[in-house]
Amino acid sequence: TESLTVAELAKKLHREPSEVIKKLFMLGVMATINQDLEKEAIELIATDYGVEVEEEILVDNTDLDTYFTEDDEGSVEERPSVVTIMGHVDHGKTTLLDSIRNTKVTEGEAGGITQHIGAYQVTVDGKKITFLDTPGHAAFTTMRARGAQVTDIAIIVVAADDGVMPQTVEAINHAKAAEVPIIIAVNKMDKEAANPDRVMQELTEYELVPEAWGGDTIFVPLSALSGDGIDDLLEMIVLVSEVEELKANPNRNAIGTVIEAQLDKGRGSVATLLVQNGTLRVGDPIVVGNTFGRVRAMVNDLGRRVKDAGPSTPVEITGLNDVPQAGDRFAVLDDEKTARAVGESRAQQALQAQRSEKSRVSLDNLFEQM
Ligand code: GDP
Ligand code: MG
Repeated sequence: TESLTVAELAKKLHREPSEVIKKLFMLGVMATINQDLEKEAIELIATDYGVEVEEEILVDNTDLDTYFTEDDEGSVEERPSVVTIMGHVDHGKTTLLDSIRNTKVTEGEAGGITQHIGAYQVTVDGKKITFLDTPGHAAFTTMRARGAQVTDIAIIVVAADDGVMPQTVEAINHAKAAEVPIIIAVNKMDKEAANPDRVMQELTEYELVPEAWGGDTIFVPLSALSGDGIDDLLEMIVLVSEVEELKANPNRNAIGTVIEAQLDKGRGSVATLLVQNGTLRVGDPIVVGNTFGRVRAMVNDLGRRVKDAGPSTPVEITGLNDVPQAGDRFAVLDDEKTARAVGESRAQQALQAQRSEKSRVSLDNLFEQM
C-alpha cells in the first residue's frame, strides 16, 4: 500500500506542510511533518482539497491537463473551424474581420446589432466558421505561451500594394510554429498599385508557394474594403476545414480556452470562452484558469442568451469568482464542491509560484548588487 509522509503529501498538494498538519488536526488526525500517513488519512485530506486518490496513486486534478482528454473515434463529430487573422499593421485585418462579419453575420438577423465578445461565427454553405476577433499576434503569443492552441487555420493578410513586411514574417512564423494551415489573403486588390505577383514572389522565400507555381499554398486575391473576393476566401476556409477533418465530442463536459475577460461593474467577472470540446451549459460548475464558479448566464456572439454552447462556439459567461486571463484554459467539473476545491488550490499554487518567483528575483538582484 501507498504511504506518504506529511511533507511528501503537502508537496503533491502544493501546500505548506504546516497547513496540511493543521488540516489533519481538524480532521482528527495528529501528525508530524515526517510522519507516514495511512491511505485513509491521505484520502481524507485529498478529498478535502478536491484531489482524487486513484489506484493508490495521487491524481493531481488541480492540473487542468487532467480534463483535456482525447475522445474515441465513435464519439466525435465534425466541428466548425476556428480561424485567426494575422498580418502586418494596416494591411487590413480589422477591415477584413468587419467585412466578413457584416456580410455574413447580420444576414437574416433582425436588428443586426452585434455585440463584441472577441469572436464570432458565420455560416458558409451550411457550415459554421468561428473567427477570433482578438489581435491575431497577441492571441497567438499569449495563448501559446500558456500552452493553449485555439486556432485551426491562420489567414495571413498581405496588402497587395505593400508586400511582405516584418509582421507578415512574424505571422508566418507563429502559424508555422503552431503547425496550422495558412491561407494568404492578398488584400487591397482594388488599389492602383496592387501587385499580387510581387506578394507571391516574396512569399516563396518562406516556402509559401501558390498552386499555379507548383506549390500548395492557397492565395486569395480580395478587397476587404469593397468585399470582392471575400466569398472566395470563405469557401477556401471551408475547403481547408474539410481537409483537416476537425472533430469534437459534444457529449462530454466542456473544455476550452479563455479568449478575453474583464471585470464589469454590473455583471462582475465576464469572460469570453471558446468551447473546444464538449458542450457548455448554464449552471455548469467550472474551473477557469485559477478561478472557479458556476456558469450563471451565457450570451452568444449575437448578444443572445443561450443555454448551451457546443464545440468551437464562442460564448460570454458570467458567474466566475474572479477574472481569468486570456489564454487560460477552462474545464467543467462534475460538481460544484470539486470545482471550488480545484479552483482554490490553483489560486493557491499560483500565489505560491508568484512568491517564489519574487524571492528568486530579489535574490538575483542581491547577487547583481554584489
Ligand atoms: P489592420 O491594421 O491590419 O487592422 O488594418 P485596417 O483594417 O485598420 O486597415 C488599414 C487601412 O487600410 C484602413 O484605412 C483601411 O480602410 C484600409 N484598407 C483595408 N482594406 C482595404 C482594401 O481592401 N482596399 C483599400 N483600398 N483599403 C483598404
Ligand atoms: Mg486592426
